[in-house]
Amino acid sequence: PDVITIQELANRMAERGVEIIKYLMKDGAMHKITDVIDSDTAQLIAEEFGHTVRRVSEADVEEGFIGEKDNEEDLVPRAPVVTIMGHVDHGKTSLLDAVRAANVVSQEAGGITQHIGAYQVTIPSGQKITFIDTPGHAAFTAMRARGAKVTDIVILVVAADDGVKPQTIEAINHAKAAEVPIIIAINKIDKPGADPQRVRTELLSHEIVVESMGGDTLEIEVSALKRTNLDALLEAVVLQAEVLELKANPDRPADGVVVEAKLERGRGPVGTALVQRGTLRLGDIIVAGSAWGRVRALINDVGEHTKEAGPSVPVEVLGFDTAPEAGDQFAVVENEARAREITEYRERERRKTLAVAGQRGSLEQMMNQL
Ligand code: GDP
Ligand code: MG
Repeated sequence: PDVITIQELANRMAERGVEIIKYLMKDGAMHKITDVIDSDTAQLIAEEFGHTVRRVSEADVEEGFIGEKDNEEDLVPRAPVVTIMGHVDHGKTSLLDAVRAANVVSQEAGGITQHIGAYQVTIPSGQKITFIDTPGHAAFTAMRARGAKVTDIVILVVAADDGVKPQTIEAINHAKAAEVPIIIAINKIDKPGADPQRVRTELLSHEIVVESMGGDTLEIEVSALKRTNLDALLEAVVLQAEVLELKANPDRPADGVVVEAKLERGRGPVGTALVQRGTLRLGDIIVAGSAWGRVRALINDVGEHTKEAGPSVPVEVLGFDTAPEAGDQFAVVENEARAREITEYRERERRKTLAVAGQRGSLEQMMNQL
């Protein structure tokens, strides 16, 4: 049920809390400033004090936040967004680095690639692919937990000298739960003990049948270390993306997901936005979780300032009032008043959740129950 503390109601009406307590006392009810009252009572009080009440509900917030659905004819193809997952030490980071090094035009920005949580490459055929490079599992699960669908395709790295391991299975389960197609990268084929065939067989017991065994899961043998067969891996991504027919309308206010966020000395709150629909531009009013701001600067994955970012493009955003959180969904809204309304509502909801957790025990205990 919707509740509010007397203090908060007083704040919002710009009245003293004691006035509300006095008012409630007329009905014989004794209250403290920290007591909560239900929203109907709050509305009565507010009207009694001469205020006009407009209640904001989650439905209200979400409706305005998500905006209208796109028309089919406005949709244009967009780059696939890929997350690399796999067991520890099977070569996720090496693969991300190798792919990036091989496909980023190095004279851009003096060849300095930035770590902003995601990057985009252009492969020789001209197609673009976006990679999320925040630590695989953590980011993926955090975003999933917040209901954000970030990834179109998962590349599952399995070391050919080690085979299917617990985190490999975990990744398979995550991808399946999210209904995201998997491409298998059998890595480390340069190693003497490599046995790619064993990987294929082991995958069978987790309901993954690779192409060479008559199934429909693409598998590529690679070496991140020697940069072997990376082109074939990226071609497989493009092939998979074509099947998915990924499209978005670039011509609307932007929304998407925050893939990384931090507070940086000298720069303030910085969030990396992965645009999913629309085009994010300088000057836009952006809301992400309970953070908001006017976009003051946009910086791409090679450190260049840019004026806009379209679908599947990751970009650092400067101008938030506080740091958003990785996994927060963001959207551009029409004005500051709307941004405040949404973030204040969310902040209240967050406090309520914390208050409830406080009654039950520590936040830590709550997290352990999840
Ligand atoms: P992550 O934990 O999955 O991110 O794995 P890393 O990328 O950190 O790789 C773990 C170790 O495996 C490092 O020592 C890498 O140099 C090594 N490695 C990664 N890919 C290959 C490969 O293709 N061949 C060989 N021989 N070693 C690799
Ligand atoms: Mg790593």
